[in-house]
Amino acid sequence: MIEQGVQPLNEPVHLTWAEIHLDNLRKNVDNIRRLCSNKQKIMAVLKADGYGHGAVKIALFLQRLGIDAFAVANVDEAVLLRKNGITIPILILGIVPCGQMEDIFHYQLTPTVCTLETAQELSRAASARQMVLSVHVRVDIGLGSIGVLPHQCVPFVEAVAGLPNLALEGIYTHLTTAYQEDDHGVQRDLQTFDSLLLRLRQKGIDVPLVHVASSPAILRYPQAHYQMVRAGIILYGLPAIHAPSPLPFYPVMTLKSKVVFIKDVGEGETVGYVHGYRLNRRTRVATVPFGYGDALFFFYLNGGEVLLHGRRAPILGRPMMDHFMVDVSHIPEVKVGDEVVIIGQQGKAVLTAEEMAERAGIGRLNADCVCMLTQRVPRIYIDSRGFEERRDEG
Ligand SMILES: *Cc1c(COP(=O)(O)O)cnc(C)c1O
Repeated sequence: MIEQGVQPLNEPVHLTWAEIHLDNLRKNVDNIRRLCSNKQKIMAVLKADGYGHGAVKIALFLQRLGIDAFAVANVDEAVLLRKNGITIPILILGIVPCGQMEDIFHYQLTPTVCTLETAQELSRAASARQMVLSVHVRVDIGLGSIGVLPHQCVPFVEAVAGLPNLALEGIYTHLTTAYQEDDHGVQRDLQTFDSLLLRLRQKGIDVPLVHVASSPAILRYPQAHYQMVRAGIILYGLPAIHAPSPLPFYPVMTLKSKVVFIKDVGEGETVGYVHGYRLNRRTRVATVPFGYGDALFFFYLNGGEVLLHGRRAPILGRPMMDHFMVDVSHIPEVKVGDEVVIIGQQGKAVLTAEEMAERAGIGRLNADCVCMLTQRVPRIYIDSRGFEERRDEG
């Protein structure tokens, strides 16, 4: 059944669209909760437009579900959420440039601090406004990216904790070893991190929100859950580890399009651009209006498959910016207007984002490549419990 506020999909409103299944998002949150203890908080990671799912809608839905906090990469992403009704804490995972410090206060955002200069500046700005600003310190263990190194951590945190009008609410790190499923590496990194926490406690600094685990550690390393977990990729139902998942996660995004043209192309002819695909037999070719202008990972595709009439149909050569062509010779009933599933399920056939990622040559655990879906693709939100209808009730 089609919910109010959701466009009827059998109407020819869009030729290409992404369905965002909020029921699956709800199930994924439930399963993240099951993997954590009752006391542990869940921070949902909504950077890159909610991994391409539409950050605002996803945030409103999760806020209503009672999620504890959000994380985004930068101030702009956070401001967008605040302007659209998000009131729960939002952590900025990246660096806040001086020019955007005003927004931190105006929109009550939580910055990450990893340099003393930034911490001092925020402290001064907070004092000037007679406000207390919550901040999180990021520790870099083996990523080589933003964050203070372990040997700098204790004096740095002491200095931050001593600054007026700053409240040191959180301390966190991001484990590359968890992504590598390197059990020893994770253990070693956690020892490093725990020894820092211990030394801070000995100095009388007890940071209330310690958080380390992103998706792979949520699944595989409960010892890394601390007071809060940061869930990104598994929230969207995409795989985070090679090892079997302890609980199922359901893909939230389905990517669909429609056949817009069909023609028979003779043997020896080519399909596509300069390095076109040469046909070795007479072929029935369907054109689908979806290309790398809709999802950048399509740029890397050469071949691959989509679903039509519940069956797999091979993509002929490289997708173009706005179209790709499919061999439908083996599915004679295909006609213009038929639904094409690019990622998702059709009948009994399933085509996953991880398979698409693998086909694009970026590896199946990079299925978060769905964040490369561009703004050209409308996102249609579907919820059997009618989230869209209830939205305006506040
Ligand atoms: C993106 C990100 C996450 C979420 O990672 P997933 O693997 O998608 O769960 C968590 N923490 C930080 C610091 C991040 O940058």
